[in-house]
Amino acid sequence: MHHDPLAELVTALQRLPGIGAKSAQRLAYHLLKTTREDVDALCAAMLSVKNRVTYCSICSNITDVDPCHYCTDPAREGRTMCVVEQPENVWAVERTRGFRGKYHVLMGTIAPLQGIGPDDLKIKGLLSRVADGSVEEVILATNPTVEGEATALYLAKLLKPLGVRVSRIAMGVPVGSDLDYADEFTMSKAMEGRRDM
Ligand SMILES: [Zn+2]
Repeated sequence: MHHDPLAELVTALQRLPGIGAKSAQRLAYHLLKTTREDVDALCAAMLSVKNRVTYCSICSNITDVDPCHYCTDPAREGRTMCVVEQPENVWAVERTRGFRGKYHVLMGTIAPLQGIGPDDLKIKGLLSRVADGSVEEVILATNPTVEGEATALYLAKLLKPLGVRVSRIAMGVPVGSDLDYADEFTMSKAMEGRRDM
């Protein structure tokens, strides 16, 4: 069977999030015209991500060293812990430069309709970290979506009996959106305006 390399590239690019048929075609033609060196560099960067980047065994953030530098940095205080849905949400909080605590990435939200229950998330690890006793406040920074809210409520119920302050970021972030889209200012306000649950 004959394979058309350009068509195969278009198909592969179309599997990327946010890339439709038109964009995929444009990217494919762009790559065709790109120098060999630039294509090699792009391929090498993609492979390096797959080969070297892993998940932190403590907080589940993406990292190339395990444990990650957020977990090992002595300048970060362990009294406050910020809980987010996905590794990319850590960046949204870091961009504010106002948070100097630790992180815990859930790797999703409770979403019964998609068959995702509490056991599918990194909740056990969160509870054992908090049960350690050094954490004083857990900031629940899950997305302001139905699933994010439900997950925050679920976690609050589990965390409060452990004797920690549990807070939820303020909803300056537009409801139904992802924290990734919150700008620095909005995210700072969301963290500052957090309220106890
Ligand atoms: Zn970590």
